[in-house]
Amino acid sequence: MSLDYEVLISEPIPQNITALVPNGDRRMFSPITSTLIHGAEDAVLVDPPLTSEQTEAVGDWIERSGKRLTHIFATHGHGDHWFGAGPLSKRFPGVRVVASAGTIAQMRVHADPDFRAGFWDKLFPGQIPDSPVLAETVPDNRFQLEGHDLVIVEVGHTDTDDTSVLHVPDLALVVAGDVIYNGVHQYLAESADGGLEAWLAAIDQVEQLGARHITAGHKDSALDDDAGRTIAETRRYLHDARELLAVHDTAEGFFHAMLERHPSRLNAGALWNGASTLYR
Ligand SMILES: [Zn+2]
Repeated sequence: MSLDYEVLISEPIPQNITALVPNGDRRMFSPITSTLIHGAEDAVLVDPPLTSEQTEAVGDWIERSGKRLTHIFATHGHGDHWFGAGPLSKRFPGVRVVASAGTIAQMRVHADPDFRAGFWDKLFPGQIPDSPVLAETVPDNRFQLEGHDLVIVEVGHTDTDDTSVLHVPDLALVVAGDVIYNGVHQYLAESADGGLEAWLAAIDQVEQLGARHITAGHKDSALDDDAGRTIAETRRYLHDARELLAVHDTAEGFFHAMLERHPSRLNAGALWNGASTLYR
């Protein structure tokens, strides 16, 4: 039986920040992509979302698929890619939560009570579920779905440290987390000190997997999952950032110059978050 995949996008939700983005937008969190890879009977979820409400919708979607959820995989440690694993592992007993060793270390950072309270719970008061770190590694960074290999490829620093993608060779699919973006402003806040170069090298690594489809962790639901386009656009955004960071003295100048080059990407607030952090 061959595999297939679907995505569910958790659409942008407001952050608990009153200051507007310099272009007048309200501060929002980017759309979040969850990917369900499935065979005849079983399914694997990649990147559960962030809030309790989003997680409930993803759980309903998995239930409607009629498949048995065997694994939850998280591509990296940012809470918007795994906090939903807590409630989902209660809702689907027996499911295994899987990640690379590096991702598990980063999950511990985001789950730390002080960090969580000072960052995630402040942005989304009362909205984030309890989510202990349940993830475990798998031998040789691979696991199976109905006999098909799912391969965890560790690519290092991209929009944060210790990130990975899930390669599904039999689907010519890479579930890319935040290594590849699709029509959404990229999170540059952790890109100082060689971060852009590391991210570009990770994109090369993904390209070498030769996939035809890429599901990006943050995607505009109106767009397809074409691998060539999403790789090229993610790379170009980083090249533009590198060029414009060198010529602009202020976060505002950089922000507006990036917006001019990428006017159709969603959530300028994510760009502003990165700009204000890089110029701090
Ligand atoms: Zn993310």
